[in-house]
Amino acid sequence: MNKRIAVLAGDGIGPEVVRAGLRVLDEIAQKYGHQFETKQALIGGCAIDATGLPLPQETVDICKQSDAILLGAVGGPKWDTLPGEKRPEKGLLDIRKELQLFANLRPVSVFSSLSDASTLKKEIVKDVDLMIVRELTGGIYFGEPRERKEVDGEEVAIDTLKYTRSEIERIIRKGFELAKVRNKKVTSVDKANVLESSRLWREVAEDVAKDYPEIELEHMLVDNAAMQLIRSPKSLDVVVTENMFGDILSDEASMLTGSLGMLPSASLSAIGPSLYEPIHGSAPDIAGKGIANPLATIASVAMMLKYEFSLEKEAEAIEKAIDAVLDAGHRTVDLAQGEAARSTDEMTELVIQQIKAEAFV
Ligand code: NAD
Repeated sequence: MNKRIAVLAGDGIGPEVVRAGLRVLDEIAQKYGHQFETKQALIGGCAIDATGLPLPQETVDICKQSDAILLGAVGGPKWDTLPGEKRPEKGLLDIRKELQLFANLRPVSVFSSLSDASTLKKEIVKDVDLMIVRELTGGIYFGEPRERKEVDGEEVAIDTLKYTRSEIERIIRKGFELAKVRNKKVTSVDKANVLESSRLWREVAEDVAKDYPEIELEHMLVDNAAMQLIRSPKSLDVVVTENMFGDILSDEASMLTGSLGMLPSASLSAIGPSLYEPIHGSAPDIAGKGIANPLATIASVAMMLKYEFSLEKEAEAIEKAIDAVLDAGHRTVDLAQGEAARSTDEMTELVIQQIKAEAFV
C-alpha cells in the first residue's frame, strides 16, 4: 500500500510524540511492505509564529492532498493572551470545518496492567471497552448568532445550539456502523427533557435505528450518562452524542484509564482525509524534556491504519505491542508508581522492538 500522510506536529510535546508515532509507522511499513509518504505542515502556535495564522492555507492544501492526517497537539502559554480568532486552538476548529471532520471517535479501553492507575476501583474499570462518538462540527460551538451585546443597559452573551436533521443523522449512523462491529449497543445521549435540539436528536436516533434491527438503542440523558460512566462503564458500548456533551463526557471517560497519555482519537471526514491525534494537549509543563508518554499517538497511528487504510493486521500489531510493553512493567512518567520512568524515546523503542519480535498477525 502506498499512502500520503500530512503530519501536523504542532506545539509543546506535539513534535515529540508525533516523532514517536512516525517511527512506529516506519517499522510497520518495513515489516508489512507498505510505503507511507509523510509531509509536515504547520498548525497552532508554531503556525502563528511563522505566518500569523493558526491554520495557514498551505496546511489546508497539504491536508486535502493527503490520504490521512496525523496531528500532535497545539497551544501553550506563549499564545494564551492572543484574541480568540488568533489563538492556536482556532486552528483546530478551522481544520474541523475545512475538512468536515464531523465524527470524533474516542475509544476508551483499560489495559489490564494499568487498572491500578485509575482513580476508580479496579473492579469498576477492569475490562472497560467503550467508544465515545462525538459530533464535531455543529451544535453550540459553531451556532450563530454568537455575540455579546448590551440589552436594557446590561451586558448579555449569546451562544446558539443548532442542529439540522442531516447533521444528526450522519453522526448517529456512524455510531450504529461502529456498534455493528463491536458489541451491538448504541447509547444515544441527549437532554431531551429540556432542549428542542435534543428532542430532534432523539427522533432521528429512533429513525436510524430502524435500519439496524440487530443493534440495541438506548436513550440516556446527559446528566445520567455522566453518572453511568463512572458507576458502570462496562454497561456502555458505543456512546453517541452532540458536540458539547461529547466534549465533556469524553474527558470524563478518559479518566477511567488513569492517564491522558494513553488515549488516541480519530476525527472522521465527510469529504476527504480524516485526522488522527492523541486526546491530550501540548503539555507545556513537560515539553522539551523528552519524557512525554508517546503511547496515545502511537495508538492514534494504529487507528489511522485501521479506520483509514483498513490495515487491520498492522493496527493489531501496534496494539499488541503496546499491551506487551505495559504488561512487562514499562511506564512513562505519567504512569510510573515508584518504578523508574522510561523516556519518550525508550518507550517508543520498546514498542518497535516488540513489533519486530511479534509473529505476523
Ligand atoms: P494537557 O493535556 O496538555 O496536559 C494536562 C496534564 O497532563 C499535564 O500535567 C501534562 O503534563 C499531562 N500530560 C498530557 N499529555 C501527556 C503525555 N503524553 N505524557 C505525559 N503527561 C501528559 O492539557 P492542558 O494542560 O489543559 O493544556 C495545555 C495546552 O494544550 C493548552 O494550550 C490547551 O489549549 C492545549 N490543548 C490542546 C489540545 C489539542 O491540541 N487537541 C487538547 C487539549 C488541550
